[in-house]
Amino acid sequence: MKSKRDRIPLSLYIHIPFCVKKCLYCDFLSANASNKQKQAYVDALLGEMDFWKETLRKQYSLKTVFIGGGTPTCLMPEQLLQIGAKLFTIWKPDKEIEFTMEANPGTITAGHIQVMKEIGVNRISLGLQSAQNEELAALGRIHTFEEFLQSYGRLRESGFRNINIDLMADIPGQTIESYRQTLKTVLALKPEHISSYSLIVEEGTPFYKMQEEGLLIIPDEDTDREMYALTKKLLQENGYTRYEISNYAREGRECLHNLTYWQMGEYLGIGLGAASYFSGYRFQNTRQMEAYQRQFGEFGKMKSVNSNGCQNQANSLEAVDCLKEGIIETEAFEKLGKREEMEEFVFLGLRMMEGISLSEYQNRFGVDFREQYSGVLESLLEKSLLAESRNHDRIYLTSRGIDVSNRVLAEFLLADNEI
Ligand code: SF4
Repeated sequence: MKSKRDRIPLSLYIHIPFCVKKCLYCDFLSANASNKQKQAYVDALLGEMDFWKETLRKQYSLKTVFIGGGTPTCLMPEQLLQIGAKLFTIWKPDKEIEFTMEANPGTITAGHIQVMKEIGVNRISLGLQSAQNEELAALGRIHTFEEFLQSYGRLRESGFRNINIDLMADIPGQTIESYRQTLKTVLALKPEHISSYSLIVEEGTPFYKMQEEGLLIIPDEDTDREMYALTKKLLQENGYTRYEISNYAREGRECLHNLTYWQMGEYLGIGLGAASYFSGYRFQNTRQMEAYQRQFGEFGKMKSVNSNGCQNQANSLEAVDCLKEGIIETEAFEKLGKREEMEEFVFLGLRMMEGISLSEYQNRFGVDFREQYSGVLESLLEKSLLAESRNHDRIYLTSRGIDVSNRVLAEFLLADNEI
């Protein structure tokens, strides 16, 4: 077993794939379900947590936990309690770690709040999207702004001091003025963190169909850029720092869990369709509910897995090997090559306003970034699409670079002979 000091920091994500009703733009893995179906899923989650238990205990120290979805508050409070209790049979963190739960207005009860406190949740991420009721209705959200206010007030009264509010730009019917009003309304509530993403019309959603039929009218690209600039201006004027393209926080309130993703730290996703970057592998759990429950559902059924050598995971390889060998079905499983790791480090890292550290690049990959990208880097710096920190260790996207970020990032794709 590794000593506490040598353990690898890990972020844990737990997916709850249930919602009261699908929003019209949503392509996340979530659906409505009966309480019986939800309990069967929770049983499978607990089974999967057991499956990873030994590996995690021996080699990892928990850095952050994030229960997301879907809508975690669609579960009964007792079901959330079961998840929290299992978590603490695996880890008892030495100190208070960031523990986020997503919640949707209209689904948060006093029972949920009590359980959140009991299991150690200390950060809430609330999906609001807009403060205008017509816009919420256009998105097919189940709640009104007034219901959001009620949930927010309850959470504050219960002592939650770290709350994120999710907003959305480019909603059908939204104007610069209505978006400005949403931002101002939310700023008046003084949340610790705000994120604002532009609507993306995803294939397979009702919005996609409406767009095909010419029935979806959304703000044009210029308006989108204006909303983006407005977000940055208003939020910065009110004491929020943009630390990622779409995320803003008060000092010290950046989301550590999401930073793990952007900094390419290790994370393990538990639950249906959950994605992981773990022990050098990138994988995704099956998206088929039936297969997921068959594999992890009743713990007794794990015997079929055990007989194949996955009973006592002495190290991370044994647990991961069950996925690698197909004993546990996955949606995708791959060992990232050096080239993919290098590219991802750059692509994900440049989403953050502080960008990437060239010395860290050297330490991780044994490669000099300036040499590797000599022509590209000079040209992007010259065009002011990238900038470098005073000590020349970090490079980051400028405002102009963010506007054309896809083009800039494409410059960092590596050919096989470049590594
Ligand atoms: S609440 Fe979130 S996850 Fe659920 S349907 Fe709406 S957008 Fe999708």
